[in-house]
Amino acid sequence: MNIHEYQGKAVLKDIGAPVSRGIAIFDASEARGAAEELGGPLWVVKSQIHAGGRGKGKFREEKAGDKGGVRLTRSVEEVVENAKQMLGSTLVTAQTGDEGKVVNRLYIEDGSDIDREFYISLLVDRATSRVSFIASTEGGMDIERVAHDTPEKIVTFDIDPATGFMPHHGRTLAKALDLSGDLAKQAHKLGKILYDGFLAKDMSLLEINPLIVTEDQCLHCLDAKVSFDNNALFRHPDIEEMRDGTEEDEKEVEAGRYDLSYVALDGNIGCMVNGAGLAMSTMDIIKLYGREPANFLDVGGGATTGKVAAAFKIITSDPGVEGILVNIFGGIMKCDVIANGVVQAVKDVGLEVPLVVRLEGTNVGRGKEIINNSGLNVIAADDLDDAAQKIVAALDDTKTCTGTGLDKILNQQS
Ligand code: GDP
Ligand code: MG
Repeated sequence: MNIHEYQGKAVLKDIGAPVSRGIAIFDASEARGAAEELGGPLWVVKSQIHAGGRGKGKFREEKAGDKGGVRLTRSVEEVVENAKQMLGSTLVTAQTGDEGKVVNRLYIEDGSDIDREFYISLLVDRATSRVSFIASTEGGMDIERVAHDTPEKIVTFDIDPATGFMPHHGRTLAKALDLSGDLAKQAHKLGKILYDGFLAKDMSLLEINPLIVTEDQCLHCLDAKVSFDNNALFRHPDIEEMRDGTEEDEKEVEAGRYDLSYVALDGNIGCMVNGAGLAMSTMDIIKLYGREPANFLDVGGGATTGKVAAAFKIITSDPGVEGILVNIFGGIMKCDVIANGVVQAVKDVGLEVPLVVRLEGTNVGRGKEIINNSGLNVIAADDLDDAAQKIVAALDDTKTCTGTGLDKILNQQS
């Protein structure tokens, strides 16, 4: 789960890392109060969206001006003016895609005087099964570009969970950031705080870009991108509360409600499958035949008719879906439960795209009977290969027929 910068900074403050004072606002009417409370003389007005690159981002609306999504301001009036411009406007950054994201929250923060900007992040490294630090003197900018152009300026090291953050890690971090004297001591202290906090809060990523040296020579976290391990969220109800549903894929939120493993993707063949392995191979075979899956969906073993119907509705609600492939290998999951779920969902929401169903395993006869008697316009398939070819062919047919009126006839039939 991802959270906003201002929430990430609250977590950083909680674990003892140095952050600026700031106030989050949801409405421009709150800007004056927040600016006055902080007192100035320098304020930063920061767009809160789940995407980076805000500083260099551009607002789509002209009224929002062209000063990016992070703005330094020097008077209360200027804070208020910028808040009015930014709230409700759409910010497009290198990470949002062309559609951008609407700014519904702002963080008004005490401005810092910057001497130097660094990059530091912690993440779970699957290769070593450890938490890794990534540090660079080249902060504040696109770290991917630094990694590409000057990889020698990025230092990586990992921490043995048996020892935790040791003095030599502190020295490595200080050296990576080219710090000595008191600043090296601060880097050591901060490294330990971040590592311990990362574990305590079950983070999966903590990125501070930039970590700065202020003009009075203190290390300070100026930006915060924090993600948490979803599987550990039950241990952190306070963090779960920080979830901003408007930043998440609606279909994924809905799937979460039904305890379905669903991931939205960019393709146009919706998949309903039981078992993660079968779901992966279904996606692979769709790609093999030249199409892209619209989602990963594992309905699981113990799904009920209601859950299957919910899953089917989530797939059909995706406007990108041009065809659906149901691929079930009934083991614990029974084919008749799947069939009933599909029929129920189609009754409720209709079906406007081709549907290929491949059922095999427990209660397969009963499942096929339910589908056959339902009057649904279903293309039956014998095995996975056959199913993938049939759905791809069905999409190709609708594509070539577009404009001849056949697509309309198909829609009317359903
Ligand atoms: P991002 O563009 O989404 O990564 O947002 P950041 O929070 O990193 O802000 C972008 C840039 O704004 C930073 O790299 C800084 O250069 C600048 N910035 C942010 N806060 C301050 C501040 O308090 N003082 C100054 N002088 N610059 C700031
Ligand atoms: Mg940043």
